[in-house]
Amino acid sequence: MRPRLALAEKAGLAVDRGVTGNEYLETSAPGIFAAGDIARWPDVHTGSAIRVEHWVVAERQGQTASLNMLGAHEKFDAVTFFWSQHYDVPINYVGHAESWDEVVVDGDIQARDCVLRFKRSGRVLAVASIYRDSDSLIAEVEMERASVQTSL
Ligand SMILES: Cc1cc2nc3c(=O)[nH]c(=O)nc-3n(C[C@H](O)[C@H](O)[C@H](O)COP(=O)(O)OP(=O)(O)OC[C@H]3O[C@@H](n4cnc5c(N)ncnc54)[C@H](O)[C@@H]3O)c2cc1C
Repeated sequence: MRPRLALAEKAGLAVDRGVTGNEYLETSAPGIFAAGDIARWPDVHTGSAIRVEHWVVAERQGQTASLNMLGAHEKFDAVTFFWSQHYDVPINYVGHAESWDEVVVDGDIQARDCVLRFKRSGRVLAVASIYRDSDSLIAEVEMERASVQTSL
């Protein structure tokens, strides 16, 4: 997928494979915000500027951007998440792993009862699961806690 950036470029906004925003999702033009598929923002969990195409992220970023338009000054620091239904296979995915050096499988993929942990240098970057909703939620909380500790 490639975001359509022509309008943003014409308007003079900073772009980098998406419309660049800060942690408040505010673009290089004060008062103009970017949210959802088009936005690249500094993600506290990966330490990188990322752009993701997930429905829930677009919703949550829309909420944060709206609040910040009203002056709330709220950082977007949610752990990225999506779920997707493929016929009778629902997949939950939390975190963000563009590359990894290890995938640890817990459970049985064929039996549709599993958790896959995508790791780099021993650190869990993302977790994908099938019919393991609790494990997925626990992984999300652990990622939230890890980034709080890192920022302390
Ligand atoms: C086939 C497919 C399957 C997907 N499945 C999943 C899934 O299973 N789970 C998941 O989490 N995510 C999924 N996604 C991704 C998810 O749909 C997107 O992340 C989400 O819709 C992004 O929302 P958005 O508001 O940022 O962008 P969009 O939903 O693309 O909305 C942007 C809107 O802006 C409008 N627009 C564009 N340019 C202009 C303009 N110049 N003026 C006015 N309006 C304009 C567009 O017409 C569009 O309505 C899927 C996407 C696709 C394409």
